[in-house]
Amino acid sequence: MTRRRFLKVCLAAMGLTACGAWGSRRGSSGSQDDADTTPSYIALAAQGELERREEQLWEKMEHCDLCPRNCGVNRLAGEKGFCSSDDTFKVATHGPHWAEELVISGRGGTGTIFFSDCNFLCAFCKNWQISHRGDGRVTSHEELASMFLTLERSGCHNINLETPTHLVPHIIRALRIAVPQGLSIPLVYNSSGYESLETLRLLDGIIDIYLPDFKFFDSSWASTLSQGAPDYVHHTSLAIKEMLRQVGHLQQARGIAFRGLLVRHLVMPQNTAGTGDFVRWVAEELGPETHVNIMGEYAPQHMARDFSPLERRPSAEDFHWAMQWARDAGLRNFH
Ligand code: SF4
Repeated sequence: MTRRRFLKVCLAAMGLTACGAWGSRRGSSGSQDDADTTPSYIALAAQGELERREEQLWEKMEHCDLCPRNCGVNRLAGEKGFCSSDDTFKVATHGPHWAEELVISGRGGTGTIFFSDCNFLCAFCKNWQISHRGDGRVTSHEELASMFLTLERSGCHNINLETPTHLVPHIIRALRIAVPQGLSIPLVYNSSGYESLETLRLLDGIIDIYLPDFKFFDSSWASTLSQGAPDYVHHTSLAIKEMLRQVGHLQQARGIAFRGLLVRHLVMPQNTAGTGDFVRWVAEELGPETHVNIMGEYAPQHMARDFSPLERRPSAEDFHWAMQWARDAGLRNFH
């Protein structure tokens, strides 16, 4: 093992990186080991507010505008919009998961619920069987609540709602069932970032950790690669600012996030994702202390080969420049 590799392994074992200390188990940015980590939804449930929010979210499905696609279909009458969802929902898989960021997965794992279908549908989706094809099983609210509770009892640090946007009324219904039975770990809202402000505001005080993607900072690529969402940059910018307003920057206790915002961005070949503009936007609009995961794992999946230059992985140079731009923008908590 080279000295450089040895140092990287040691830093990783301590949860440290060359770019910042978030994700570390102790003494990291935002670390508050004595903080009250009770999820915010507990108080809302006690006030009866969860029920009121659920009603409002449910009403939105009547002329569905839960997300910026704004389909206007009556999902309560069985109609389906862009996300292929009516008033039922499917779960593809659920279980503890350790492949997310260390502050999210920790040692106990993040309790992932992978919902079927999607309101964004990236052309390069690595989980296309679930999001595009809709693989999964129709699930009841009671079953979903039971999944939440089972994941908490198995030691997971949080409930990780993967692709939740088109299904938030169902999620709140299940939450209302699970809270009286003892659910007490934070909800992680793990989304594409393509969110409606109105829907997000109804989640204020329910979601403790927002984990959105900001996939592209280029509207034409966003439109091409997401089946016509040219307003992705506009809506996602507003949505992520709203998320920050609700939960603030990422806070951790004993190395595990309990509240806050962590933004993800995938580096793509030839700067297709607009990484330079993205990191500058983060620094200027959210603040240089924002926690950002700049990911290098892009691989051509599903229909990616139809969209040059997405038929290849990003080069070392692509990734080098992404990290350089993040440093130049002054970001302090990127990984
Ligand atoms: S949630 Fe689905 S039906 Fe509703 S607006 Fe979005 S894509 Fe359309």
